[in-house]
Amino acid sequence: MNRTVNPDPAVLAPEYVRHIAPYVPGKPIEELAREYGLAEEAIVKLASNENPRGPSPRAREAVMAACTGITRYPDGNGFALKSALAARFGVGIDQIVLGNGSNDVLELATQAFLRPGDEAVYSQHAFAVYPLATQARGATGIEVPARDYGHDLDAMARAVTFRTRIVFVANPNNPTGTWIPPDEVKAFLAAVPRDRLVVLDEAYDEYLEPAQRSPSVSWIGEHSNLVVSRTFSKAYGLAGLRIGFGLMDAAVADMLNRVRQPFNVSSVAQAAALAALADTEYVDESARLNREGMAQLTSALDALGLPYVASHANFLLVHVGDGARVYERLLRQGVIVRPVGSYGLPGHVRVTVGLADENRRFLAALRSALGR
Ligand code: PMP
Repeated sequence: MNRTVNPDPAVLAPEYVRHIAPYVPGKPIEELAREYGLAEEAIVKLASNENPRGPSPRAREAVMAACTGITRYPDGNGFALKSALAARFGVGIDQIVLGNGSNDVLELATQAFLRPGDEAVYSQHAFAVYPLATQARGATGIEVPARDYGHDLDAMARAVTFRTRIVFVANPNNPTGTWIPPDEVKAFLAAVPRDRLVVLDEAYDEYLEPAQRSPSVSWIGEHSNLVVSRTFSKAYGLAGLRIGFGLMDAAVADMLNRVRQPFNVSSVAQAAALAALADTEYVDESARLNREGMAQLTSALDALGLPYVASHANFLLVHVGDGARVYERLLRQGVIVRPVGSYGLPGHVRVTVGLADENRRFLAALRSALGR
C-alpha cells in the first residue's frame, strides 16, 4: 500500500451512499440576508411549509418550563406524550414510535425493513425523503409515474414485486398538494400483499377539510403492515423542535424502536408537543387561516392566468414557465419559495401559504418577476 498518497476518504463510503443526491432544504432567511444584503425583517420565507402563525402560546410556555430540566436526558420512551397520543388516536402506547421529526420515522422504517437489494416503491413527484432514505440503505427505489401530478395507486400496486419491502404513499403529497380519498387508499392497502410495509405519510392531514381527515389509524388493526406517520412540524407549528410520530402494529413499532437512537426526541420537543396536541383550537384556527390564504393565492393566480395544481395542504405548486429563473427573481425581492426542478418539475415553484401580508408580498414579487 502506498502510504504517502492521501486517498479520498469518501471512497470508504459504500457506493450507494456516494451516489445520494443531497436533500436541498428551503433557503434560510439568514442566508438570503447575507447573500443579497437584505434586512432579515424584509424577507418573506414561504419555502418549507411551516406554520406562519408561530407556535401555540401553550407550546411556547411548555418549552420555557421544560428548560429547567434540560440537564437530564429526555424520557427515551416518551411516556407522557405517547399516553396522550394513544388516547387521541385510540391505539396502544406500544403502537407509537416518536421521531426527530416525522422524517426520522420514515428513516427508521427504511432502517428496520430495507436491506441492500430490496426495493421500495414510491410515486414520481413524491416527497424527496423516500428515495433518499431508500438509497441510504443500499436498496433500490422504484419510482412510479404520477397521474395528474398525484399518485397512481393502481400502477403503484402493480409495481410491487417479490423484492419490495416498503411502499410509500404521501397523502396529501408534497410538493404537489394532491390528495387521495380514504376509500381509494383503503382499496390500495387491500391490493398490496400483507407482507409488505405500506408507509402512509400524513404530514399535512390537519390541513384537510374536517370531513376529509384520514381515518387510516383505524385500519391498523386489520392491516398490520400499515405505518401512519404524522408530524408536529406543520399545523402544530413546531418545525424547529423536530418532533413527529408513527402509529403502527406493535410488532412493527418494536422493530423501529430497535434501530431508533435511545434519545432521539428531546425533552423540550416532547413537552412542547404534549402542550400543542392539547391546543386543538390553535390547530383548527391554523387550518382555517390556511384555507383563507389558499383562496387569496388561487384567486390572484387565476387573475394572472397562472396554472397551479389544486392543493389540499398548506402550499401550492404554481406553473411559472422557468421555475429556476422565477425562484431567483423572487429571491432578489426578498421572497423565498421552493424551486422544484429536483422533483422533476422544472416549470413550477412551490409556495407555502403565509399570512395575508406575506401572500400579498409574494404575489407582488411574482408579478414583477414575470414582468406583469
Ligand atoms: N412528509 C412530508 C410529505 C413532508 O412534506 C415533510 C416535510 N417537508 C415531512 C414528511 C417531514 O417533516 P418533519 O420531519 O418536519 O416531520
